Amino acid sequence: MAKFLEYQGKEYFKKAGIPVPEGEAVDTPEAAAAAAEKIGKPVVVKAQVLAGGRGKAGGVKLVSTPEEAAKAAGEILGMEIKGLTVKQVLVEEQLAIKQEFYAGLIINSAHDVRGPVLMFSPEGGMDIESVPEDKIATLNVDVTKGLMIHDTLDMCVTMGVQGGALRPLADVVLKLYNAFRRNDCRALEINPLVLTEEGKVYAADCRMEADDQAVFRHPEFGIKIGREFLKEPTELDLMGWSYEASDFRGTSYIAEMASPEETAAGGYVGYHGIGGGAAMLGMDALNKVGLKVADYADTSGNPTASKVYRTVKLIMSQPNIEGYFLSGFMMANQEQWHHAHGLVKALREELPKRPGFPVVLLLCGNKEAESQQILKQGLADLDARVEIYDREHVYDAKFIGGRVRTLVDEYRQDKAAA
Ligand code: GDP
Ligand code: MN
Repeated sequence: MAKFLEYQGKEYFKKAGIPVPEGEAVDTPEAAAAAAEKIGKPVVVKAQVLAGGRGKAGGVKLVSTPEEAAKAAGEILGMEIKGLTVKQVLVEEQLAIKQEFYAGLIINSAHDVRGPVLMFSPEGGMDIESVPEDKIATLNVDVTKGLMIHDTLDMCVTMGVQGGALRPLADVVLKLYNAFRRNDCRALEINPLVLTEEGKVYAADCRMEADDQAVFRHPEFGIKIGREFLKEPTELDLMGWSYEASDFRGTSYIAEMASPEETAAGGYVGYHGIGGGAAMLGMDALNKVGLKVADYADTSGNPTASKVYRTVKLIMSQPNIEGYFLSGFMMANQEQWHHAHGLVKALREELPKRPGFPVVLLLCGNKEAESQQILKQGLADLDARVEIYDREHVYDAKFIGGRVRTLVDEYRQDKAAA
């Protein structure tokens, strides 16, 4: 899912008319002091990482002066929270909290719901999972009807909200739903939703996750890769994603696993799996014979030959790789001849450029005989180090891994002799 940092999500809150404290995201203690100076009040300094529980982890500090803000930022920047390094902090106007509420929406994909579920609780500030069920009002929203202010007023009243806080709280909950829909979210949460001593309501936190499948219609998100991708994309990653962005037939997932500096040390193979489980099996087989993957690529879900072709070309473009391995450890029910055509075209272009380069192809599944014929005929006249395997070896990861190792060793010997 496309995840947003708190300060990024709060920009979408502002657009939706949800009040947020005045604040600024910064990445140095000096900038934190300047931000606190500008706000001109006591501030809270908050770690910006894609994880909850920052408060408990020491990533949220309340301070009174710009000097203290700088000190707090210095402590928080570089901190590790749930394995994530803090690179930015949000410096924000401190709120005088009277009560903390919770408001959130998620998509429940269970068969009997299949839609957004709205939740409101007067017990904010802690994990919603640890709040007793009777303290949470929930509503399955019918998206065709939408949500009305009387719905959110109802939820707040059920949870005991009364007086002057009722209207502004119900108003924020309604706006939260509107923001959720407008931004194609899978989850959008305010915890805590704060009622201040002055009777004002603010979103003091934000957790926002948008649907990867909808990222294409939100250029304003500035998300480079519209799928779960837990690292800063490299040039190779972005090229891989461009095949998906321009062609949604089947999937091709490509991620760089080692930099050219790392692969220069040797022992890396261009890696191409078909299906997640099969791909893991293949990586294991390589690791067991002392080889590593330069990239992770997976073409499945009946990709077109052109998509497979582009993927193979990209894998082969990696510097320092000592072989190419198609790890089709599965009886895929996709039409495998698309793979065969894409492979033949790419390898016919690439292999003449590098004599003796090792290639091991394991391809099984639907239309296997036809696919094997395409591969064998298509590559037959090449003077190349290619081995092609079918279902006879689909359970034989050890053997296949051994073949990759042997061919890589032969290739190294050839090169050393030349
Ligand atoms: P999380 O722990 O990652 O969910 O981070 P939050 O943004 O929710 O902050 C954790 C807690 O810090 C909140 O539940 C509040 O109790 C506290 N906190 C955050 N901002 C303020 C503030 O402006 N004033 C006060 N008094 N407390 C705050
Ligand atoms: Mn929170």
